[in-house]
Amino acid sequence: MACRCTRISKCRSDITKVSNARTALQALSNNNGTLNTRLTELGGRMQEMATPDNIGSCATSINNMNKDSASTISAMISQCTARISSLQSELTNLEREDREHHQGLKK
Ligand SMILES: [Zn+2]
Repeated sequence: MACRCTRISKCRSDITKVSNARTALQALSNNNGTLNTRLTELGGRMQEMATPDNIGSCATSINNMNKDSASTISAMISQCTARISSLQSELTNLEREDREHHQGLKK
């Protein structure tokens, strides 16, 4: 067993970075929810107005655009969550190896 102290600190710092990225994405996702609500209202108002046909299709594309960006953000959040959990299990293994290494040296 080798000393894993260096890799352990690298791994911990990666977990922090990915967690921060996930927090930022979740904030973005909340903002996106607010934006979605507003644009849905806007889309509804545009359809209520007695206007040319292309306004209706414009409202539809606004709604589709929102769904796409919301699902992209949520896919990115899932990727972060998966990365954090794989880093955490790597960290657990590294810590166990490192502990065994240092205990071995004391004997
Ligand atoms: Zn060590």
